[in-house]
Amino acid sequence: MNEYFVMNTEIAVVGAGHAGVEAALAGARLGCRTLLFTISNDAVANMPCNPSIGGTGKGQLVYEIDALGGEMGRAADKVTLQDRMLNSSKGAAVHSKRVQADRRLYQEIMKKTVEHTAGLSLIQAEIKEIRKETKGFTLVTMLGACYHADAVVVSTGTYLDSRIIVGEYTCRSGPDGMHAAIGLTDSFLKMGIKMLRFKTGTPPRIDARSIDFSVLERQDGERVSTPYSVMTDQKELDARPKLPCYVAYTNEKTHEIIRANISRSPLYSGEIKGVGPRYCPSIEDKVVRFPDKTRHQLFVEPMGDGSGEMYLQGFSSSMPADVQLEMLHSLVGFERGDDAERLCDRIRLHRLNAVICNFGI
Ligand SMILES: Cc1cc2nc3c(=O)[nH]c(=O)nc-3n(C[C@H](O)[C@H](O)[C@H](O)COP(=O)(O)OP(=O)(O)OC[C@H]3O[C@@H](n4cnc5c(N)ncnc54)[C@H](O)[C@@H]3O)c2cc1C
Repeated sequence: MNEYFVMNTEIAVVGAGHAGVEAALAGARLGCRTLLFTISNDAVANMPCNPSIGGTGKGQLVYEIDALGGEMGRAADKVTLQDRMLNSSKGAAVHSKRVQADRRLYQEIMKKTVEHTAGLSLIQAEIKEIRKETKGFTLVTMLGACYHADAVVVSTGTYLDSRIIVGEYTCRSGPDGMHAAIGLTDSFLKMGIKMLRFKTGTPPRIDARSIDFSVLERQDGERVSTPYSVMTDQKELDARPKLPCYVAYTNEKTHEIIRANISRSPLYSGEIKGVGPRYCPSIEDKVVRFPDKTRHQLFVEPMGDGSGEMYLQGFSSSMPADVQLEMLHSLVGFERGDDAERLCDRIRLHRLNAVICNFGI
């Protein structure tokens, strides 16, 4: 590949996820010429898993980002579908605000903010190599374009050499059908940076029309919302639509299906060796680790205002597709219908859950 020089910049940010967007906005707002690289301009500030912002241990972070002049809290207030103050029965220090967000609207707002910030350019290009120079760094894209930066921020999230695993099926992929970032991992290794492999999972998204909400527990948010951001107009926040979430439960039948198929889970077959985050165990992990529990709580949450997709929080799994479907049909409110037509139509999985393994620094 022929390399060609494009431009100098003061700051280059590799990755336009939540971390990269904040870093790039901060750099540009401080008056530094900033370039923000992303694999896809259509996935800026994407939420590849639950479209929620904040929660235990994270709500405080959103307030801190806001106090530092960041964007996340302000944008979250504009896309709130439901908000709840978690841990409100405990002391004030652990109260944690959690917002169920409209994910597409959030992305749109963040992309517009980036595009309208002076001194900041969003570039769709995959960086395959970062070279340390005597002064600064050279960033090389897949197509050979070279950028020189005085400073580089790497915020590549879950994309580095990532793999998707659904039961016995595996492929090279980033989240949400984005392609994995190939090459940059080797570049870091050459620079002597130690890399580790991580894993995370996500549950299936369910067609709202196929769920029997009448048998689920309805869960509304706070009647009066408090904003994340000091910049938010309370009237605007009050005018946001307030959507309910729902509570469902696994049962003995779900647990039996999981136990009967546990050897097909890549988490237990040895296919996945990566370390998972503590906050997000798969449903098979919960069933194996807590054999005495007869049920586990699940939350059925909207992905957006008007979106047909519902997120099934707590049902993250690495099981093969056929097992996931069987598990899903065992839940009250998610059963198959009796007649043949409904049998095909009853549960439609918009996206099947998968475990993604990726390298991180
Ligand atoms: C399946 C799954 C489940 C998850 N579950 C949860 C959860 O329950 N709770 C939670 O808080 N988080 C969860 N996460 C993690 C979630 O991804 C992060 O919280 C959040 O997205 C991290 O933001 P980030 O900015 O670090 O990275 P990301 O959002 O991953 O963004 C990375 C950015 O880097 C860009 N990029 C990567 N490599 C290159 C390159 N070489 N060149 C140019 N651009 C590049 C990408 O295009 C993207 O814009 C989950 C992730 C996945 C994939």
